[in-house]
Amino acid sequence: MSFKRRTPTNRQSPIDIRTSKVIPDPEKCSPLIIRFNPGDCVEVAVNEDGCWKVSARLHSTSVIRGSHLTGTYRLLQFHAHWGGSEHTVDGKRFDGEIHFVFWNTRYFSPEEACKKSDGLAVLGVFVEKGPANQEFNILLKAIEESNKTGKSVRIPPSFDPMRLVPRSGLSRYFTYLGGLTTPPYSECVVWTVMQTPITMSEAQLKTLGTLTDENWRECQRLHARKVYSTRGI
Ligand SMILES: [Zn+2]
Repeated sequence: MSFKRRTPTNRQSPIDIRTSKVIPDPEKCSPLIIRFNPGDCVEVAVNEDGCWKVSARLHSTSVIRGSHLTGTYRLLQFHAHWGGSEHTVDGKRFDGEIHFVFWNTRYFSPEEACKKSDGLAVLGVFVEKGPANQEFNILLKAIEESNKTGKSVRIPPSFDPMRLVPRSGLSRYFTYLGGLTTPPYSECVVWTVMQTPITMSEAQLKTLGTLTDENWRECQRLHARKVYSTRGI
């Protein structure tokens, strides 16, 4: 008789966040502390699927902390989804979503962290069509170059990822336990999804659309999970 190891699938991501079911818990959800150090975001690469990823320096000192997170998480990479956001709020899909991926420094390596239920902290920032985000133009230039050459492109050290994060989102966010939204869909993520979106212009979103039309995963079932927020909505 053989036993197959069952893959748990009760905490998949993304999810639709139903605000009427969200539990306000200011104590669990303290204001976020995010530190991005200049030069930690080294390079960007576009893969064969048209998705881009900014890699952080191996020993990056860019970190995220919050009372819903068990310890300090270090920046690993960030990327985006477009043609639609991954998380939705009361069924509303935004135009895109940026994911900042941090790993729990209590583990030996990012690979090790991906095997733990609190291994990664992913910060999700919604993107809505509106005024252009000037900082993103710096990145967009590098993304376009990488797409053209098929190689990684260095990012100017002056690039500041904090300009892709809405200030008010630090004290207004949802959190729940989930997983990666791309293979292998590991259930290792403490999600922090900011309630306030940032804006990108139609032209910026259109440029992303030339890489691939869309790259988001359908919402998954919540099962028994609870979603918490900083305060009442
Ligand atoms: Zn993602």
